Amino acid sequence: MPTTYECNSCGLILEFGWYHYHSFSSGYGASTLVGCLACGCQHRVEIAMRDRGPEFLHDYDVLLTAVSAEQRLQVMTQLRKDLAISLSQAQSAVNRLPFVIKRALDCCEARTLEKTYRGVGAVIEMKVVTSKANPDFGPIQQDRLLRCTSLRFRSDGAKPEFTPTGVRNRDNSLAGEFRLDEQACGLCGCIGDLVSGLSEPHSPCPNCKSGRLAETGGWVT
Ligand SMILES: [Zn+2]
Ligand SMILES: [Zn+2]
Repeated sequence: MPTTYECNSCGLILEFGWYHYHSFSSGYGASTLVGCLACGCQHRVEIAMRDRGPEFLHDYDVLLTAVSAEQRLQVMTQLRKDLAISLSQAQSAVNRLPFVIKRALDCCEARTLEKTYRGVGAVIEMKVVTSKANPDFGPIQQDRLLRCTSLRFRSDGAKPEFTPTGVRNRDNSLAGEFRLDEQACGLCGCIGDLVSGLSEPHSPCPNCKSGRLAETGGWVT
């Protein structure tokens, strides 16, 4: 949850903290809010998604492979309920195993079905029938540093606008991370003044130098 600080003299606003996104289609999953202690410009580090699910998505047939004599009745009752079949059809199903309960389910549906039948004492097999590449698999972005297009003040009202500074992962690989303390502020150019939090509760204002930054609230994502 990010925390908002405001200068009691010039009204400068700086926010710190972390929030996650609700859509990951951009390849980014979260941002950490960062501020420049030299000029007061709000920055944020956008965190690239490392893992967006398995490489392949499978479909499964769910098979009933064994039923003990004591559990036959419960399993047949479950089959009749799930498949809307007659008693004699349920009997013939458990007499001729393996029996395919349902075909081509996704992983989640198949596991739910598996759990249900294990719960009534059946032995279940999940058989992979199709595999397709997960279109969202793997990282597609690098972490990057953005800055606000201008200093933010209480009177602004509008949502802050961010623009990329050009800083991305240092080694140009998808998995690396850049060091914040080595980066230059995107507005004033000072190096080593970007911080992800304030070390004291009433830090001096980096803009007017006379006021103090005080916590005024936070927001939930
Ligand atoms: Zn700066
Ligand atoms: Zn100030």
